[in-house]
Amino acid sequence: MKKVHTISILGSTGSIGTQSLEVAEKHGIKINALTAHSNIKMLESQCRKFRPKTVCIYRDDLYSELKSALSDMSIEVVCGMEGLCRIASDKDADMLLNSVVGMVGLLPTLTAIDAKIDIALANKETLVAGGELVMKAAAENDVKIYPVDSEHSAIFQCLQGNKRSQLRKIILTASGGPFFGKKTNELKNVTVAQALNHPNWSMGNKITIDSATLMNKGLEFIEAKWLFGLSPEQIDIVVHRQSVIHSAVEYADNSVIAQLGVPDMKIPIQYALLYPERMECDCGRLDLKKYGTLTFAEPDYDTFKCLSSCIKAIKKGGAYPCIANAVNEEAVSMFLSGKIGFLDIGDMVGEAVESFDYSDINSYDDVMKWDNAARDFARRRV
Ligand code: NDP
Ligand code: MG
Repeated sequence: MKKVHTISILGSTGSIGTQSLEVAEKHGIKINALTAHSNIKMLESQCRKFRPKTVCIYRDDLYSELKSALSDMSIEVVCGMEGLCRIASDKDADMLLNSVVGMVGLLPTLTAIDAKIDIALANKETLVAGGELVMKAAAENDVKIYPVDSEHSAIFQCLQGNKRSQLRKIILTASGGPFFGKKTNELKNVTVAQALNHPNWSMGNKITIDSATLMNKGLEFIEAKWLFGLSPEQIDIVVHRQSVIHSAVEYADNSVIAQLGVPDMKIPIQYALLYPERMECDCGRLDLKKYGTLTFAEPDYDTFKCLSSCIKAIKKGGAYPCIANAVNEEAVSMFLSGKIGFLDIGDMVGEAVESFDYSDINSYDDVMKWDNAARDFARRRV
């Protein structure tokens, strides 16, 4: 049985990264390496507190600044994708927690798998862009991938002690985001601030916008398909506004097993790191009486085009999920910088899934080829 003593964290300055450091500290897990994209200040203070062996700053123009900030400490400083991959393959860690945002996390994931290091995976874009490659490599190298995403952690928990062959389908729950119940004509003038105002979860900006467009649920649909080896027909989505039931599994005998808890990412992060142990967690306890009512509804696939486009993309297969993800990454960044409107995100993802011809994905280079082509498509459209 697994016992994790030391971890490396990619994306340690983010929402998942900082919560993971709190979980690691509580349970005495040592930190081997930390990384950020550009937040040098936070990375430096994390280094002073957790004293990792290696630290990586993705932006190489910030390398010298970080190196001089840490000059009084014996920490190796690296940068760029090469640095991320060096850390991902460092066997001094028993586990890599990948919590960067975007498909930039794919190569470090594949690198860790090659080095036979187990992974706690928050970075869902990795599985959307290159799910088949990742799952095949993990099986060949006997590497375990523990889900951190709350829905996938819930499903993983519901699978414990049951036969995988007797699973009929999974039920992915969705909060519905800040615009649940709204129709297209009401979403035309949505501002960035409104889209960033998620009702139940506090997260990084990109996933918060993905939750408002329901792209997040589309990405999670594809993530679930790869993690649990399901067909798209075995995945149901239910809008559940309270985010108390984190997802469920239906078995052959019509029994449905769900995982419940307060909406707090520390529970899934901790389960991924400590599996199969269930230790005390620094988060609230669930009091169902306070909720009174739990509600369930069908998602609005017409208004939230990102969701229907992701399902279409995974049913079409090949490069389509990678293309949908890349267009969305570009579109979200354009929306956040005021270059496009909220509804443009869904329109662009939908158009991309319709416009490209079918292509296979057989290698990391194939992923990069279609990722780049899709980003060009998104930039040209504006
Ligand atoms: P954040 O934006 O809060 O953090 C992202 C982290 O990745 C930061 O450390 C950031 O560094 C780093 N980073 C950003 N861009 C790059 C890049 N190009 N190269 C290398 N590192 C980069 O994101 P979240 O923590 O919210 O989300 C992380 C992942 O987890 C996403 O895939 C998300 O979908 C998933 N997830 C998040 C949940 C949540 O509750 N937040 C829930 C479930 C899944 P810097 O700080 O310097 O910018
Ligand atoms: Mg989720």
